[in-house]
Amino acid sequence: SVKGKTAIVTGSNSGIGLGIARELAKAGADVVLNSFTDSPEDHALARDVAEETGANVRYIQADMSDPDACRGLIETAGACDILINNAGIQHVAPIDEFPTAKWDAIIAINLNSAFHTTAAALPMMRKAGWGRIVNIASAHGLTASPYKSAYVAAKHGIVGMTKVVALETAQEPITANAICPGYVLTPLVEAQIPDTMKEYDMSREDVIRDVMLTRQPSKEFATVEQLGGTALFLCSDAAAQITGTTISVDGGWTAL
Ligand code: NAD
Repeated sequence: SVKGKTAIVTGSNSGIGLGIARELAKAGADVVLNSFTDSPEDHALARDVAEETGANVRYIQADMSDPDACRGLIETAGACDILINNAGIQHVAPIDEFPTAKWDAIIAINLNSAFHTTAAALPMMRKAGWGRIVNIASAHGLTASPYKSAYVAAKHGIVGMTKVVALETAQEPITANAICPGYVLTPLVEAQIPDTMKEYDMSREDVIRDVMLTRQPSKEFATVEQLGGTALFLCSDAAAQITGTTISVDGGWTAL
């Protein structure tokens, strides 16, 4: 059980990270919310989740594009039994027009941050004699789409790193796995709808069905609650021998 365990969820003031944080808090974990901002809303969110769930919930500001801040997040939290590497951004452009700064930011936030947090958290997990690392990859960690070079590279990278961490901890009570969501309707995805509507001169409904969910056979978005449930399962005793692998939550995307 995750009761009383400390769970750090990077990039969790919105979307999937927040959904996972809520499920872990509901199950009795002490939860650390994180993002790069440090606004009254961020701290209010932590209070709200604490109130909703009865769990201890803190917000710690740390910019996941900064290696020292990644390691600092774990140190400031003071404990880390469950590490959910979720922070991520997206940028869509053909590779010959892809801005170098965007490439660097995506690799830093979506991939490098997980290296730094994992390196800082593992000694704590070893000391505590238990640990769970859950990396939020993507269907794009297993397949590719045009115009998403940095994102696909980072997500394939994090799937690879997950396997290495699993091997390095294989004989310890620590597991490392990646969840590969298909499309989930979060602010990250919502932000892509207006541009796509303009680009294809399509209605919102048509963009969702015929553009976004073309590769998702279920024709439904996955939900943040489903991602939370999947993460919670990976933290359970039933999942103690599940390590170094990926779980797709993608409505059949990768079966196609
Ligand atoms: P989101 O934009 O709602 O959430 C991203 C989170 O990351 C936010 O909390 C944001 O504040 C945080 N973040 C961004 N830059 C940061 C930084 N420099 N430092 C710290 N935090 C930062 O998006 P989401 O859809 O919830 O995405 C969460 C993760 O799930 C990402 O890794 C994304 O690639 C992955 N994912 C999303 C989908 C989807 O369809 N939404 C599908 C597959 C994978």
